[in-house]
Amino acid sequence: MGDYRAPLLLAWQLTNRCPCRCLHCCEDSGPREAWSAELSKDEALRVAADCARCAIPYVVFGGGEPLGVAHAWDIFETLSKNGAAVKIETDGTMIDEEAAGRLRSLSVDCVQVSVDGAEASTHERIRPGGDFRKAAAAIERLAARGVPAEFVFVPCRLNASEICGAYDLAAKLGARTFVTGPMMRLGRAARDWERLSLSRGEWARAVEEVEERALLRGHPIRLSIYPWDIVEETQVRLHSPQAMLLAVPDGRVKLLNALPFACADLRKQSLAEAWDACQAAWKSGEVSGFVRRIPLEPELLKHANETWALKGPVLNRPNLRRSGSLDA
Ligand code: SF4
Repeated sequence: MGDYRAPLLLAWQLTNRCPCRCLHCCEDSGPREAWSAELSKDEALRVAADCARCAIPYVVFGGGEPLGVAHAWDIFETLSKNGAAVKIETDGTMIDEEAAGRLRSLSVDCVQVSVDGAEASTHERIRPGGDFRKAAAAIERLAARGVPAEFVFVPCRLNASEICGAYDLAAKLGARTFVTGPMMRLGRAARDWERLSLSRGEWARAVEEVEERALLRGHPIRLSIYPWDIVEETQVRLHSPQAMLLAVPDGRVKLLNALPFACADLRKQSLAEAWDACQAAWKSGEVSGFVRRIPLEPELLKHANETWALKGPVLNRPNLRRSGSLDA
């Protein structure tokens, strides 16, 4: 990350509200889970303009459900007009014909739609509030318009047996890529870990099965398998942090979704200042000490969705309050 004067990627959670309440949601999102002080339209558009000023090339929207935010389209337009590539992670239920057309006209780089089963009943059991048919139709609509659509499937005990069926479905719908990876032990997934999580052996078998299926079918679409679980990811990132910032719904900036540290506040600071703070934070003893403890104390990850101000290099930044701490 030290090689760049601005992040290559801004991961931006516009809201924590979501029509779904997925059993494995790492953000604890849901219909009533909007944060009390999410960025307003004006504040969010200021951040989008700042992205253009810093020439951040790639902005990824997650949530909550980003398409449920009324001003999301204004943000996409601002970014798109200024040449940033935009990716959207969504449950797909709001991508009707009109939305698919708008995404096409904005030349959105990629839309990832979460589909957690080959069957409607499995998907909707894992994703209460979700709608299998709408998610599938969204992928089809996007593909028909040439918008790169990705089918995201997170295997757990309730759906791992459907991984090959899900791959086949993704290919049939015209998705560009079937994306999968280990479920993250964060948020609701962490609280229901024993019931939902696959063992290492079960995960390895699921990967083997889908790789075989892709091979057998001659790779009709790309297969993308994320290599690390969240504990491994924290260790890798400590030694080689990504050139990215993660903005949470109230504008505070975090290092990684698994870590509770908020190193800057986009309500008060520019992205350039946040970038400096982020680089300093990754080098701080407070962050590295916490990250090194995670493999032995994975329960630390229960703090992932909190926002702690750092005591060290960024303590004097304005408007950063501790909303939790290990000692609290
Ligand atoms: S759709 Fe995504 S953000 Fe919403 S509850 Fe499910 S996993 Fe969480």
